[in-house]
Amino acid sequence: MMDPEYDPNAENPYECFMCGTAIEARNNPDSCPNCGGEMRNRLIPVE
Ligand SMILES: [Zn+2]
Repeated sequence: MMDPEYDPNAENPYECFMCGTAIEARNNPDSCPNCGGEMRNRLIPVE
């Protein structure tokens, strides 16, 4: 089942867990360009 809000070919907003830096990336960034912390996709809600 496809999630219409998730398009892997589009640029998605990512946010750093550590410092809150927000970037847009086509692929899941490995780490924050600012602090090296873990990034999360803001389109995917966290519990
Ligand atoms: Zn960061």
